[in-house]
Amino acid sequence: MSSDRLIVIGGVAAGTKAAATARRRNPAASVVVLQDEAEVAYSACGMPYHLAEGDEIPRRKLIARMPEAFRADGIDMRTRHRVEEIDAKRAIVTVRDLEAGRTYTESYDQLLIATGAQASALKASVSPTAPPIVQLRTLADADRIANMLVGVRKLVVLGGGYIGLEMAETARKLGLDVAVVEMAEHVIPTFDEAVSQVVEEELRRNNVQLFTGSRVVELDGGQVVLDNGDRIAADLVLVATGVRPSTALAAAAGVKLGATGAIAVSPRMSTNVQRIYAAGDCAESRHVVSDRPVWMPLGDVANRHGRVAGVNMAGGDATFPGVLGTAIFRVFDLAVARTGLGHADASAAGLFPVSGMIQAPSRARYMRGSTTVQIHLTVHEQSGQLLGCQVVGSDAVDKTIDTVAAAIWGKLTASDLLDLDLAYAPPFSPVFAPVQVAGEVLGKAVRAMRVELDAAVMRCMF
Ligand code: NAD
Repeated sequence: MSSDRLIVIGGVAAGTKAAATARRRNPAASVVVLQDEAEVAYSACGMPYHLAEGDEIPRRKLIARMPEAFRADGIDMRTRHRVEEIDAKRAIVTVRDLEAGRTYTESYDQLLIATGAQASALKASVSPTAPPIVQLRTLADADRIANMLVGVRKLVVLGGGYIGLEMAETARKLGLDVAVVEMAEHVIPTFDEAVSQVVEEELRRNNVQLFTGSRVVELDGGQVVLDNGDRIAADLVLVATGVRPSTALAAAAGVKLGATGAIAVSPRMSTNVQRIYAAGDCAESRHVVSDRPVWMPLGDVANRHGRVAGVNMAGGDATFPGVLGTAIFRVFDLAVARTGLGHADASAAGLFPVSGMIQAPSRARYMRGSTTVQIHLTVHEQSGQLLGCQVVGSDAVDKTIDTVAAAIWGKLTASDLLDLDLAYAPPFSPVFAPVQVAGEVLGKAVRAMRVELDAAVMRCMF
């Protein structure tokens, strides 16, 4: 075992996973984690739930491991230490100790950049009388919001994506009036319109005001002013208009960025610069279906990136197999999930997709809790191979999406879904699970298209 000096920049998901993995694999290595925030290894994904249910989910429960626990395992965990520069030629980093106010350098044998992503800035004019503006990216942001929510009546959320909708639910649960402003025609615009419409109904049912196809131009006099002239009263504004990878440090050191704007990495999570790895929200992944680089800033992906980087930094040989972009979120009583490629993305990847939507009961119809689950399936027109899926409903959504994700991974076809031996009993599923109904419908569509295609070929021959 070599006594390499491993430095990790960033101590949330990918960084701490990599550090712990490397240290476990190579106890002789000296592992230093440099984290500019005060906290490490916390669940950013859990923050909206903590804000909604502080008694049930107190702040401490979001923190997987305290800095002392890492130190007890021999990891030199330095919080409130910000890396200001990477000198890749000399293999040193310049670090600012934010508490002591001093700057020093550290040398490395292997370096991991796990700098994450940052919230997109608000693009609107902000007057001195504007309502206060917050965003939810770090635990410090969550603390700030927790304090500011006290006494607030009206929250305006900018952005109808994952965080915007999760926080709309949180704020309604806390009794606030909530409005969501989304610049696209529908909320969650990366989903099929029919899925977005189900979500919009759920938001309205829960008294969330929606302003879609609208941009904010100004925050002024306790109001949010939209481009169509509408004015929404606000005590607090949450900006949840997306994130971008934090790559400035990497780019300045000559680390190559990919077409997505995130750091380009090999399957071993190494960058173009010798001895420098990247992982987590700052790094790209390869999409398993399109075989193209994609940027998926998701917590589970970051942890899997971190594990691979940690193994390799410790002298091992692990590869990251890629992503399907599987994701799920809850909004009030609905779960919304996706995996693989949607119809448009599959077309853009040159895959000739065919897509269909089905609605089916989530359990045997006579059982309490049986509700309609809506499944959008996309398959390859010629082979019937599964390419992607979106699911919305209040029951059976997670198992449906996970089944399809596993099936896409295993290169199964729509018709194969019907043959899967899935768990059945009336409280859990109908005899044919909704995912099997979707598979049958799409399988038939593909077969019908093949018959049509064969007939066309015959017509051409004669
Ligand atoms: P997002 O990309 O999910 O949504 C941002 C939304 O803001 C989009 O709908 C976009 O059209 C809209 N928008 C952009 N500019 C706007 C403007 N000027 N005015 C109005 N709307 C505007 O991003 P997010 O909700 O900020 O979440 C950040 C990241 O965290 C995402 O990458 C997301 O994948 C991740 N996340 C994932 C989960 C999950 O998987 N359950 C949960 C929370 C966050």
